[in-house]
Parts: sequence; structure tokens; C-alpha cells
Amino acid sequence: MRTFVSLLLAASLLLCWPAPTASADGLVLTPPVDGAVGRGFDDVGRFEAGHRGVDLRGSPGETVRSAAVGVVRFAGHVAGVPSVSVDHGNGWRTTYQPVLASVAEGDRVEAGQPLGTLAAGHCLAGCLHWGLTDGTRYADPLSFLASPPIRLVPRGTSPAPPPRIAGATLPAARVAGLPVAGRLSSPFGMRRHPITGVWKLHDGTDIAAPCGTPILAPAGGTVTRAYYNPAYGWRVFLDHGGGLVTAYNHLLSLSVAVGQRIEAGGRVGAVGTTGLSTGCHLHWMAWRGGRLVDPLTLGG
Ligand SMILES: [Zn+2]
Ligand SMILES: [Zn+2]
Repeated sequence: MRTFVSLLLAASLLLCWPAPTASADGLVLTPPVDGAVGRGFDDVGRFEAGHRGVDLRGSPGETVRSAAVGVVRFAGHVAGVPSVSVDHGNGWRTTYQPVLASVAEGDRVEAGQPLGTLAAGHCLAGCLHWGLTDGTRYADPLSFLASPPIRLVPRGTSPAPPPRIAGATLPAARVAGLPVAGRLSSPFGMRRHPITGVWKLHDGTDIAAPCGTPILAPAGGTVTRAYYNPAYGWRVFLDHGGGLVTAYNHLLSLSVAVGQRIEAGGRVGAVGTTGLSTGCHLHWMAWRGGRLVDPLTLGG
């Protein structure tokens, strides 16, 4: 099983992240627009609501520049909002919204190179929502500017220290085993739902793979629930004992029964897109002691 898991992990790493390094040491950003900081970064926990980026004032039509050298990872719409993200090659990427891209996915960009033009919609007066993320956590991009802007701080308080991201690791590096040989397409955490547009907790990890791809139990367990839900589609719950439960959603169909024992590496089902889903993927969920957790943390 361990060999199998290592193979899956190696395959997914090769497919998704060519030669990443896990450190953000020396990451220096330049402001993507010249406007002042309208709204700052909320350093909230991963599962709480908050502003996971900074708003920089700007007028619609204004040029938005890449904050550092990198490769355009995404240029398109996220829940109707024109967005660009740039991968800086160290596990971290910057995000820019709402921005009408003039670059395409895969383009290499230099620091200061135009990414597109600012669109209206994020703030009443016009602003850019600028984020910094490793796909799981968010950091304050202003903490990585060569010369941080002057920010007004209430009398008697001091600004929060910059977050430590030098030890950042890519999500996949923490995975003991993925249940599907696929690409991690959406992490566990707060996000805007791709269909409903509502900002809420994404309660699992998405692994994109062609419909029909086998889903294999990352650890032995017993099927405790297997049914259809309008949102999650066909879903199967596995109780692994010790308070650990995992669930597999949007399955193609049901091929296991409640009470059935599935050994590690045994087939739980196949990737589908049933329920509220935008395409073939596994929405993988996990609970520890009844508390929802990121399944990617199960391995370590
Ligand atoms: Zn914002
Ligand atoms: Zn999902």
C-alpha cells in the first residue's frame, strides 16, 4: 500500500507541480497598482470569514502589474469575477481581482509587467483585490513589499508582524496518499463557490480526474453511509476507526454498500460529477473526532 501511495503521490506531484521549492525566502513584491490601501488584510483562521487580501484603490481601466516575476497560472473568470493569478515558483502565488487579463495561462511575466486592466465591482470607488496564497493559506502581500506603504494604525497599537511563510510547503507535500490519481484543483478552506457564487467554507479538497477514474481507500475502513445528496451527489462515508472518517462525493454511481469493509487501496467508487459540480472531480472530506478537517492533513 505504501508503495502504491508513493506512486500516486509521485504521479500527482509530477503532473501538477514541476520542480517546486517549498520556500518563500526572499519573495519581494512590488505594488500592482499605485493606489492607497483601502482595506487591509484580516489575519483570521482558515475557517473563519475575513478579508483574505488587500484592497488597493484604483480606477477601472487602469493597468494592473505583476507583483513579481512568475508564470500566469490562471487568467479567466472565477464565479463571474475576472481574475488573474501568477505563480512565483516557490509554492506561492499572487491573485488579482477584478482584472480583465491581457495575459494567458502559461505566460511568463516579469515584475511590473502588465497583467490586464482593472474592472469595476470590488469596491464602490474602484479597487484591486490583491492576494497572496500557497493554495491553502493566505498571507498579507503588503508584508512582502520592498518598501511597505504607510498604514494608519490606531494609537497605542502596533502593526502585526509579517507572517512566517519561509517554511511553506505545497499542499501535496503533506499528503500521505491521495485516493485518486489526479490534480488537486481546489483546496479546503474559504472560497467563493464556483456555482452559487457564495463565499463560504469549501468543506473538502477537490481532486480533478476524468470521470470513471477509480477512487481507492487511502486507509482501511467500513462504509457507514452511501446515498445520494442533491449537492454532494452520490457519496460514500468510510469510518477508519479512532475517530477518523472520510467521505467521497460526486461519485459516478454507488458501487459499495453500508457495512461493507474496504481495505486500504480497495475501491470506494469512481470519479463522477453528480450533484452540484462543475466537472469530473472527487470532493474529498474528512473528520477527526467529529470535527471537519482538511483531508490533506491526514498524512501528517
Ligand atoms: Zn478585497
Ligand atoms: Zn469540492
